[in-house]
Amino acid sequence: MTEKTLSPHCQKVLKALEKSASPLSAYELLEKLRAHGIKAPPTVYRALETLMQRGLVHRIESLNAFIACHHHADGSHTHSQFVVCRNFGNVEEVHDKQLSTSIRKIASSLKFQIEREILEIMGLCKNCSATARKV
Ligand SMILES: [Zn+2]
Ligand SMILES: [Zn+2]
Repeated sequence: MTEKTLSPHCQKVLKALEKSASPLSAYELLEKLRAHGIKAPPTVYRALETLMQRGLVHRIESLNAFIACHHHADGSHTHSQFVVCRNFGNVEEVHDKQLSTSIRKIASSLKFQIEREILEIMGLCKNCSATARKV
């Protein structure tokens, strides 16, 4: 799925997320996009929904915010894990196939049907933990 097939609203939302260094909440997105003619929250939510379905955007549950996916070209990508810095909320997306396999195994041993798999690891990133040590 290429970005060309996206609606103009989706493209604007995606661009704003790609430009941002940290995850953006729907409200922050709306603030940024006002100047680009997007004024209604449902427009932002609908665009986010579409972008998430296409795997172009991920929701970071613990921050209630969204990030653009930078891995959607590599295909291997239905299950992501996120490492979240609690300081600035910057997020690193990782894909550990073994981790996903383990989760699947656990679920099947419990006869548990996974609907959403959310794995977010909170803490301090390399930069923040280096700064914290200096203080
Ligand atoms: Zn991704
Ligand atoms: Zn940090």
